[in-house]
Parts: sequence; C-alpha cells; structure tokens
Amino acid sequence: MFEALMISRTDDAVTTRVEQVDPASLPEGDVTVAVDHSSLNYKDALAITRGAPVVRRFPMVPGIDLAGRVIESEDPLYRAGDRVLATGWGLGETHWGGLSRMARLSGRWLLPQPAGLSSRQVMGIGTAGFTAMLCIMSLEEGGLTPASGPVIITGSGGGVGGMAIMLLAQLGYQVTAVTGRPQLHVYLTRLGASEIVPREALAPTGRPLEKIRWAGGIDVVGGDTLATMCASIQYGGTVAACGLAESMALPLTVAPFILRNVRLQGVDSVMCPRPRRMAAWARLARDIDHTLLESMLHDAPLADAITIAPRILAGHVRGRTVISMA
Ligand code: NDP
Repeated sequence: MFEALMISRTDDAVTTRVEQVDPASLPEGDVTVAVDHSSLNYKDALAITRGAPVVRRFPMVPGIDLAGRVIESEDPLYRAGDRVLATGWGLGETHWGGLSRMARLSGRWLLPQPAGLSSRQVMGIGTAGFTAMLCIMSLEEGGLTPASGPVIITGSGGGVGGMAIMLLAQLGYQVTAVTGRPQLHVYLTRLGASEIVPREALAPTGRPLEKIRWAGGIDVVGGDTLATMCASIQYGGTVAACGLAESMALPLTVAPFILRNVRLQGVDSVMCPRPRRMAAWARLARDIDHTLLESMLHDAPLADAITIAPRILAGHVRGRTVISMA
C-alpha cells in the first residue's frame, strides 16, 4: 500500500483526504514512478478545495506535477532508477497525479530530470516555472529583448509571477511587478523587480488605449488587469497570457491590436509538445538562480496540502509550495 491524496465525490460533496492505496488500483500506464516530490499549483488548489471543474473523473489523485525515480518501465526510453519529472498532460485532472507516493503514467509524459537540479528543485520550479519560461519564450518569439523596454508581470507574489520576475531579471530585463500585497516589496525586489506597482495601477479606465508603459507583459490573472495591460503596451509589443486568478473575462477592444500592432499570445503548459518542453526545461536548468529559487520555496508534507490549498486560492501563499513525500 502507498499513501496518496484522494479526492472523492459523494452526492454533491467533495472530500479530500490522505488514503492508503493498493498499487493494483493505479491507472494504466507504461511507467511506474516512486514520487519523491510534488508541488501545489493554483490548479491543484482548485482541485483539492472544489473538485470539479478541474477534476474530471472521481476518485482522483490531484497533483499536476511530479518528480521521482522510475520503479519499472515498459517504455524503452526509461529504466528503473531513472530520475524523471512530469507536468500537465491531464495529471490530477483526468489521470491520477503527483500528490501520491506512487504514480503510473505514460512514458510519453515523462522527461528526464535536468542535470544540476535536485528533485526538490525541479518541483520548486514545477508547472509554475515551466509556464513562466514558456511565457518568456513567447515574448522572445514576439521580438522582445532587454533593450525593448520594461516588462510587466502580474500575480508577482505567486508561483508563475515570481518565477517570471526571477528569470527575466536574470536575462537582463527591467521588470515591473504587480502585486496586491505591499508587504512583499522586499521579496519581489530580491527576485529582481525594479519597480513594484499595486494591482489598482491596472484598474480599468474605459479608454481603448492607455499611455504606453511597457514593452511586453506576462499576465496570470486575466480580466480587467489583462485588458489594461494590453492597452498599455508599446507598438509591436507582446503580452503572454496564461492565467485567470482574477477573472476568465477579457473586457478589451481591438485597439491595441489594430493600432499598436500588439500581439496577445496565449500560453498553455498542459498540452505543450515534448520538444518545446525539453527546450524550456533546458533553459530553466541553465538560467535559474539556485539561491533565489530557494527564497521562493516552502516545504510541506502531503497531508498539509489540504490546508494550504484554500490559502493559495485566497492569495495568501507566497512563491511555491513543494510537497515532500519523505
Ligand atoms: P499562485 O496562487 O501561486 O499565484 C497567483 C497570484 O495571483 C497570487 O499570488 C496573487 O498575487 C495574484 N492574485 C490572486 N488572486 C487575484 C485576484 N483576484 N486579482 C488579481 N490578482 C490575484 O498561482 P500560480 O502562479 O500557480 O498560477 C497563476 C495563474 O496562472 C492561475 O490562474 C493558474 O491557473 C494559471 N496557470 C496557467 C497555466 C497554463 O498552462 N496556462 C500554468 C500555470 C498556471 P499578488 O498577491 O502578488 O497580487
């Protein structure tokens, strides 16, 4: 038997608790992994506290991220003992995920852990850091360079936002961090933000175009904030949008696109193709500052995921939560 977080649905109620699970109940897959670390992302917090719509089958082991060692593999790419990681592909949504001491999944979803990073660091980065890097790659593909001008990042106190600040600053960009938590100024400055603005700085004004303030942006919140960001980007700039922590809505006009040639690039980490995943993780392994990464991490045991999840949704957790199975 092994320990796993299990989300069950009875009538209309969703319950999440740590359970002892028989390995015979593991889902189909050609690789079995002894998970040593996972992490808590916004989507995991939604799954743990509300179940649906993130969880699409019950019972479900949540956890969109996992890292560990291969126990057995029918996939010729992997052998027992290999250090692997997986993010997305429906883990924790349609297929049992990483908040568990054991996982069985398709070898196509796995990547070798990058050399130079521990399993804990890999999960410290997790989907949040991977998505931040995908957003940065999108901005670069839009032509952004450090010489283009400042870049704005929302949700700075969270996982994707903090990772994006750290990585962009490391690459030589001037970074404006948006946060609803003024108490995080010292932390965000240490990550690399050169300007910190309150959320209200992106409140809607009703104007289709705003004064130009940034060369590019990464948005994790959606809603009015993303609309104001798009309206404040310089001619030819790019905004990468990946989240909805504020709202699913996007109340904006086409003015930024047809008058300022602004590009709005959506970013999805879940179904991201393997070659792009490999490229992003190679860059993460190269560009991550280990000391700054450490400053973003909190460790917690599996059972604590249940109490941390609502705090993530309330915006009270800073940086990244790593779940250790030790
Ligand atoms: P976190 O919970 O770590 O961070 C979210 C941050 O957003 C908070 O720390 C807070 O930052 C800010 N925030 C929270 N609520 C609001 C609100 N109502 N209005 C404005 N800002 C708010 O989440 P993650 O970084 O893990 O994920 C962020 C978003 O990105 C989520 O919506 C998530 O689903 C999405 N995501 C999408 C991915 C994809 O593949 N497209 C992959 C990963 C994440 P502060 O207090 O500093 O303002």
